[in-house]
Amino acid sequence: MFKTHNCGALRPADAGSTVTLAGWVHLRRDFGGVIFIVLRDRSGLVQVVVSGDASQEAIAAADQARSEYVLQIEGTVQLRPADQVNADWDTGEIEVAATSVTVLNTSKTPPFYIYDDSPVDDQLRLQYRYLDLRRARMQRNMVLRHNVVQFLRQALNDRGFLEIETPFLFVSTPEGARDYLVPSRVHPGQFYALPQSPQQLKQLLMVAGYERYYQIARCFRDEDLRADRQPEFTQLDLEMSFVHRDDVLDLIEEIFTEMLPVVTPHKRLLTPFPRLTHAEALERFGSDKPDLRFGMELVDLTETLAGSEFRVFSATAASGGAIKAIVAPGCVGYSRRQIDELTDIAKGEGARGLVALGYTGDTVKGSAAKFLTDAELAAIAGATGAGEGDLVCIVAADAGVVAASLSALRLTFRDQLDLVDHDLVAFGWVLDFPMYEWDDEEERWTAAHHPFTMPRPNTYDKMMDDPLAVLSDAYDLVCNGLELASGSIRVHDPKIQSDIFRVLGYPEEETQEKFGHMMEAFSYGAPPHGGIAPGIDRLTRVLAGEQDIREVIAFPKTSQAADLMAGAPAEATARQLEELHIRIDD
Ligand code: ASP
Repeated sequence: MFKTHNCGALRPADAGSTVTLAGWVHLRRDFGGVIFIVLRDRSGLVQVVVSGDASQEAIAAADQARSEYVLQIEGTVQLRPADQVNADWDTGEIEVAATSVTVLNTSKTPPFYIYDDSPVDDQLRLQYRYLDLRRARMQRNMVLRHNVVQFLRQALNDRGFLEIETPFLFVSTPEGARDYLVPSRVHPGQFYALPQSPQQLKQLLMVAGYERYYQIARCFRDEDLRADRQPEFTQLDLEMSFVHRDDVLDLIEEIFTEMLPVVTPHKRLLTPFPRLTHAEALERFGSDKPDLRFGMELVDLTETLAGSEFRVFSATAASGGAIKAIVAPGCVGYSRRQIDELTDIAKGEGARGLVALGYTGDTVKGSAAKFLTDAELAAIAGATGAGEGDLVCIVAADAGVVAASLSALRLTFRDQLDLVDHDLVAFGWVLDFPMYEWDDEEERWTAAHHPFTMPRPNTYDKMMDDPLAVLSDAYDLVCNGLELASGSIRVHDPKIQSDIFRVLGYPEEETQEKFGHMMEAFSYGAPPHGGIAPGIDRLTRVLAGEQDIREVIAFPKTSQAADLMAGAPAEATARQLEELHIRIDD
């Protein structure tokens, strides 16, 4: 080894020892006669002093060294004088008096500072990702990610799960996104699909009798990238046989509850994880991925205001819509401009407008207040619990729009009023999802989760006549307003499976072609089974307190799905295209 010790490991008890270190120049300061070098390796930082006592070569090397040079240093650990102790560093009580300094490699001046976490242009960070990864923030995130993955692996191993790899070159597995296709050289005109998830394969492993499977699985989905989306991402994919829904939920809840104190001891959990039906989540929070770290629940005023003279309310109620409100505490003083901004947020979700009422104690402020009677204003305060100083935000529209608008406003107030404890990790389960969604564009039913999801038994009989009334045995794990995992109990009965395909309108041949192997497999004694797939990137990003999964992925892509460092995607050579039987039409 080039070193006897890691930089960050040295402590006062090492004083007097001779050590050899190797690492990067984090900082270098020359005080004329004494050069201080902060040396960095993955374990941390240590101060090295190169003074007149060092050899001539050592002094010359220290003189030449610049930021990010790679050095090997021999020296003696000594206690720092009391007035030079740096309490922010683990090694802050000691320093290393160098006897020898060897330059192992030089470095160009980096395009941004490695030694602090000051903001750097995102493009530049991605272009020089190997330098960005040297910075403390990224190192912390990579270590956290490693700890999360190792914990999960161990927890599942301890519970009798087998880690099994599944292929990347496979057929399309529908998870609602576009596939990445890989052309086949050997089979002209044919393509593999990179898996959107190992869904089919893990179910086939259950048919194969493995009972408990997991994999840290890469998934590929070609969709327009938004925050928290990457073309390839990682899931803890797992599947279990002979389980009911609650067995899967309990397992994940138990493992996550055990994991948090180990990987992020400063974070707090809500336990047990609240369990809401999909309908209840929408009703109370306006969202199927509610942020459960704070209240501000939606209050239904439809009945209270159905008879109002104010047409906006009465007409909405008469046409079967909903009137709902949230209360923003202490926001009565919001300016006209602020209210307009809130209105724009509601409009962005499809609302025609926002009724904002400020309860001052004596009067009620807000342009709509004059259309409401005193009794109505009092009833609104009564139903919502609004008191002096509060702002009541009301949206009247069809139920979906009301939910989406108030959910968006709720999250806006969360951020504006800083309503959450940032050390709280609020997991929760959302259950009983609708089985189908109507796709307006394609004018057909689509599977809300995926087509292998079991309908809730008591709703199965509606399958053919009223697909919207069918609920599924799908569940989501949400966390701080994000969807962190999806899963379901699966169909293991070929008859139910073919009914589902029928509702989805897949022609018989297409079903055969795409899923014939699944249907065939299910006819050989498929056990009841179910599973789930928590997103490792999102989980780590929440635990790291980051805002985007890119911060916890070593080599992520841009929002244009490009790798700026290596230049992917890139053109193929004429020869490659020819071998793959592909012609590019401009
Ligand atoms: N394959 C599903 C997904 O990626 C997860 C599951 O149902 O287990 O969302």
